[in-house]
Amino acid sequence: MIFNLHTTDEGELYLFLIFYKGVICNLYYVDFSLTNGLGKPSISIYYSGCDIPTKCKDCHNPELWKKQKEALTYEEIYKKVKWYKDFQKEKLRVSFLGGEPLASYNVDSVIEISKRLKEDFSNIELILYSWRKPELIEEEWVKYFDYGVLGEFKMDSLQEGFLPASKNQIIYDFKNKEALPPIKLKGDKK
Ligand code: SF4
Repeated sequence: MIFNLHTTDEGELYLFLIFYKGVICNLYYVDFSLTNGLGKPSISIYYSGCDIPTKCKDCHNPELWKKQKEALTYEEIYKKVKWYKDFQKEKLRVSFLGGEPLASYNVDSVIEISKRLKEDFSNIELILYSWRKPELIEEEWVKYFDYGVLGEFKMDSLQEGFLPASKNQIIYDFKNKEALPPIKLKGDKK
């Protein structure tokens, strides 16, 4: 994906890597990231299948371009999120990545899972990573999301040490409908 953020960053803890057969399509795996929560720790839910017309050069997750048969149920995701929540004090953050979460074959699952997470957990922040910019995103799809990291990853616009990873991408506040400035990632000395 995009950005190295669609992807599993170096240093991530693969606490939750699981491959279950289930009822929710193309929801491929869940893991834990130190940075996917807008530079903060986050549980990361990865969808398989990417529908961008031309694949991004230097995509970090080409294994997620094709739809996979494996899938996770909401109950499986809930258990992982609950387990994580019980061990940390900070705000709970969950990121949806891919592949492309907003591809037509993934979007219903994204709506359902984001809705249920908001209902089941208080003080939770949801973040969506997508190649789509706001003008290509329907409000219904992101009703339960707080922020997006939006736009396709372009290596020739790379801004190392920042989120988003390329200058053409934006961090977007879905509630206030506004783009936010890039975030300097902690620990990066550049
Ligand atoms: S939009 Fe698709 S091709 Fe581009 S970085 Fe994400 S997964 Fe890779």
